[in-house]
Amino acid sequence: MDSMSSDTLSQHISDAALRIEDRVIAWRRDIHQNPELSYQETRTAAMAAEHLRKLGYEVRTGVGITGVVGTLKGDKPGGVVALRADMDALPVEERTDVPFASKATAQYLGQTVPVMHACGHDCHVAILMGVAEILAGMKAEIPGTVRLIFQPNEEGSNDGRPSGAKAMIADGAMANPAPSAVFGLHVTSGVRSGVIALRPGGLMASADRLKIDVEGRQTHGSMPWRGIDPVVTSAQIILALQTIVSRQLDPTVTPAVISVSTIHGGVRNNILPDSVAMEGTIRTHDEGVRADIWKRIDKTATAIAEAAGAKAKVTVFQGVPVTYNDPGLTDWGTGSLKDGLDTQRVTESRPTMGAEDFSYLAQVVPGMFFFLGITPPEGDPRGAPANHSPLFYVDEPALKYGVRALAYLAVDYLRRGIAVD
Ligand SMILES: [Zn+2]
Ligand SMILES: [Zn+2]
Repeated sequence: MDSMSSDTLSQHISDAALRIEDRVIAWRRDIHQNPELSYQETRTAAMAAEHLRKLGYEVRTGVGITGVVGTLKGDKPGGVVALRADMDALPVEERTDVPFASKATAQYLGQTVPVMHACGHDCHVAILMGVAEILAGMKAEIPGTVRLIFQPNEEGSNDGRPSGAKAMIADGAMANPAPSAVFGLHVTSGVRSGVIALRPGGLMASADRLKIDVEGRQTHGSMPWRGIDPVVTSAQIILALQTIVSRQLDPTVTPAVISVSTIHGGVRNNILPDSVAMEGTIRTHDEGVRADIWKRIDKTATAIAEAAGAKAKVTVFQGVPVTYNDPGLTDWGTGSLKDGLDTQRVTESRPTMGAEDFSYLAQVVPGMFFFLGITPPEGDPRGAPANHSPLFYVDEPALKYGVRALAYLAVDYLRRGIAVD
């Protein structure tokens, strides 16, 4: 295989992806009709595990609660590369009119909720199952080991348990043998069907949950001077927080967003309450700026509250880090994708403000994450329902390009390494 030309390898994988396309789509529809929430992905995990076992992979289940790890040792010696797919769905009620639309419900934080693969992780699982089969068919020629990671809980179970990537790392998914690179993809409605978009450096943002509790002193609404008004104080804090990004940060270093998204306080028009609670999200593409923003939020909220005689308690729940594409690996990988698919199919992505816990895997070893467009040719990626929308729609012919991309990257990485041009 090391002697095989890029064209021959690309053609081989392209033919194999075409042969398996119908089954990849069937798997995707099956998973779509049977979506499972974060850390409840038992059916999906069993499906992936059974497929891997049949193909001769060494399989570990229950990795990071519901995750599955498959290992394929090629017949030739070489390095180790990892590929990752996430498996969980969202508490969203599907409103598409596809015949395999989800009607599923599940328990989420003590409530019964509708469940939908509104982020397209059904596609990720089906794509990686397709890749697994193609690679198993090439086992005799693969120089090294491929580690496949079927990961639970990417979206966040919001019950205090760690993200799926973190849990799987803690449970050995990136060890024995340890890969030296990890690749993953995400389907997105923001890109045209079958087109791949990526960039070196920060691709997706860090995401932290922000909570601010403002404590004043309750009084009659007609006599604010008799108490301490946490409502006006909170309004001042919300506005001042917006000046952190616009007035205090260098916009050429990183995009950043601070959003206060919930505010709760008071029960009646003529009572100023004791306290107000707010929640929001903090996004950046730079770990230094991220830590700096936490300090600035605390200083701003605390000082404004103090000026009003109130108290502000700021809590930042640290979420996922920046999804950082290793520049060396991504330069190499972009070239590899152009060889494996074709040059027009691979485009540069802008940084996006969404977040991904693939970032944890890419902290263990150099990682490269990329988007796969799924908006049909006749649609407009700018106007198509976004990931997480009840109308999220996948143009299924795009899936084979995801299969080709991951299969080609894995084999090309093992046969060439990134040092070789
Ligand atoms: Zn999502
Ligand atoms: Zn997602």
